[in-house]
Amino acid sequence: MLGNLGENLTNTMKKLAGMAVIDKKTIKEVVKDIQRALIQSDVNIQLVLKLSKTIEDRALNEKPPKGITPREHVITIVYEEMVNLLGEKSHELNIDDKPFKIMFLGLQGSGKTTTIGKLARFLQKKGYSPAIVSTDTWRPAAYEQLRQLTEELNISLYGDPNNKDALDLAEKGLKKFKNQKIIIFDTAGRHKDEADLLEEMENLSSIIDPNEAILVIDGTIGQQAHDQANAFAKTTDIGSIIVTKLDGSAKGGGALSAVAEVGAPIKFIGTGERLDDFEVFDPERFISRLLGMGDIKTLIEKAEEVIDEDVAAETMNAMLSGKFTIKDMKNQFDMMGKMGPVQQVMNMVPGIGAKIPKEARKMTEGKIDKYKIIMSSMSIYEMENPKVIKKSRITRIARGAGVRNEEVKELLKYFNSTKKAMKGIGKRGGGGGINRLVSQFMK
Ligand code: GDP
Repeated sequence: MLGNLGENLTNTMKKLAGMAVIDKKTIKEVVKDIQRALIQSDVNIQLVLKLSKTIEDRALNEKPPKGITPREHVITIVYEEMVNLLGEKSHELNIDDKPFKIMFLGLQGSGKTTTIGKLARFLQKKGYSPAIVSTDTWRPAAYEQLRQLTEELNISLYGDPNNKDALDLAEKGLKKFKNQKIIIFDTAGRHKDEADLLEEMENLSSIIDPNEAILVIDGTIGQQAHDQANAFAKTTDIGSIIVTKLDGSAKGGGALSAVAEVGAPIKFIGTGERLDDFEVFDPERFISRLLGMGDIKTLIEKAEEVIDEDVAAETMNAMLSGKFTIKDMKNQFDMMGKMGPVQQVMNMVPGIGAKIPKEARKMTEGKIDKYKIIMSSMSIYEMENPKVIKKSRITRIARGAGVRNEEVKELLKYFNSTKKAMKGIGKRGGGGGINRLVSQFMK
């Protein structure tokens, strides 16, 4: 659906989920990718700029809520702002009055007749049996198209191909179906000129007095949908919009965002020529799918190893006994990712606070992410026997992690000072505190 837009956005989100470090540079890169994808889909440039500024501002300035990593936070911001681009979550049709009158509007070729069939089918599945009135006196085939459709669906139709008075047809249709629960009115999509068409819609609207006026817009016209929706909105109070032909349309994103700007909710979308190619439109679900959020969630879950009670206890014991290895440090980092900044975790152990090594105080989440990447370039043997990591191994690890040799050395230095500090705490008998820390992990 939506041409390449979904694919481009999903790839951007996957890239974001896989980024080792989330900083100003990477956020700008992600925003650039999103901009490119949206502009290709014909989303209005002003909207794109506004959206990217909001994403960038929020990603750079908002602190991630507790328990959320910076990466998840940026993904959430992109998701939320994209949902905002599509407007509020709308309510489904609220069929209360009897008869509940639905008036369809839309230019010829927009997919109006097909969509009437789709909505009728949708209502049938909900247990209704809608009747249809044809008032299109301009397109000779309109009545015939509806006749076939209603026959297929086995529902009632009123129309008269010989009557050229749309208002009269509407009045007669109303009378004929006054005892039906739902009446759907088809209208013309073409006239002598646009002004005449809009005038006819206004007159029809006052006769039909619809409970719901539904505007059908062709999704392939992109951001032009904005002016089209505005023109129709002047003739009657548009209660919902249906954007059609979103299957494979390269400009669908532009149409959806342009329509959302007009203020009338998009309640359904058309995704193909068949009667079942029709969906209730839910901005959250739609964006979720467009961004490939299902995939992203599993990616994030994979990226952060789940805290395991045994691993936590093992790591703590290693810390106390002085047998602390790089593998334990890696476990420690993974757990910290879940629990919050290093210092906060250390502070939970009574008596340690003041003794946190100077390097640990300076640890940022960005640095932890980088250290994790370096550690994943080490072999298990190296992690368990850090002493063997000398010159050539340092070069290989650095190359594998895409960092400088100095950064690997910095990690080794950090490891050694942490190990020393841990040993000291163990000797001084901080056991009670450590146990408390272990129990914190298990909550
Ligand atoms: P109307 O003139 O507005 O009544 O438009 P029609 O209902 O006759 O549709 C015009 C063309 O668009 C037809 O060929 C339909 O099959 C096609 N169409 C309508 N909705 C969709 C859709 O959601 N996807 C695709 N691919 N084609 C559609």
